[in-house]
Amino acid sequence: MSTQSSVDAPSYQVLLYYRYVEIEDPEAYLDSHRELCAELGLLGRIIVGREGINGTVSGSFENTNSYMEAMKADPLTAGIEFKIDPAEGHVFPKLSVKVRKEIVSLGLDETADIDPNEVSGERLSPREFYEAMQEDGVILIDGRNDYEAELGHFKDAVCPEIGNFREFPDWLREHSEDLKGKKILTYCTGGIRCEKLSGFLKKEGFEDVYQLDGGIVKYGKDPEVQGRDFEGLCYVFDQRVGVEVNRTETRKVITHCRRCGIDEPNFCNCQWPKCNDQIFICPSCKEEHGQYCEDKCRTEAAKDIATASAEET
Ligand SMILES: [Zn+2]
Ligand SMILES: [Zn+2]
Repeated sequence: MSTQSSVDAPSYQVLLYYRYVEIEDPEAYLDSHRELCAELGLLGRIIVGREGINGTVSGSFENTNSYMEAMKADPLTAGIEFKIDPAEGHVFPKLSVKVRKEIVSLGLDETADIDPNEVSGERLSPREFYEAMQEDGVILIDGRNDYEAELGHFKDAVCPEIGNFREFPDWLREHSEDLKGKKILTYCTGGIRCEKLSGFLKKEGFEDVYQLDGGIVKYGKDPEVQGRDFEGLCYVFDQRVGVEVNRTETRKVITHCRRCGIDEPNFCNCQWPKCNDQIFICPSCKEEHGQYCEDKCRTEAAKDIATASAEET
């Protein structure tokens, strides 16, 4: 790759990263880390726990680079892999750095919890993962929540109807008969959840278990596979909501306008604050009916506004 001139460089960047590593004193780490982020003007969400660190932040090109250098200079996070997206500006409204018991939780008690450094599925590169998906009889499990998979997922993936990662152990146990003896591939956004999910499967006795290293995000950036066979957009937990993954001819829109049914890749929230549901609605229906999931939400929103203005006068 040629060196980018400062003119070509994006003005902002979004970073996504994690590392499972023992942090002895998460509270102390949190304080110094928050200070570092604040100094660099970064916004985003970072979770620190005894088992590691998980973060996604946005900031200026220079400051996000300084952040990565600082993380790489710290022996604790030296080997961390950053997934980097160019951006026009910040994609988070604020900075939140928190200590949690776990950086990712399967809802298991301490003795049963998975340490991915001890047990985890075999990591596959994007290319290896793509090739494994082509094999007969493999089961591809989407390791994310149902609303994430709704926006986009791998072709032929099993997308469990779960609203929280903690529901996975029960779901997997309920479906263990279907999984028995099969080669199982798991994937998630950036790889962090599959570290535990695939580890859990191994601990449950499944042997042929693999995970997509670096998740969908890395798969989409891979120069060789270029997101092949990922359908729709990748859900992200920031203001962008969905990001492109597939840069090949297999790219397709899998979501539809709830009013007229045409393909609509972008989602928004119902404008009635009490509803706020995530909805797909095309620009022309939005113009005709407003940004509401149904007429009821529009009527209720109008009533709320009328009540509020009546109270003010
Ligand atoms: Zn429409
Ligand atoms: Zn609504």
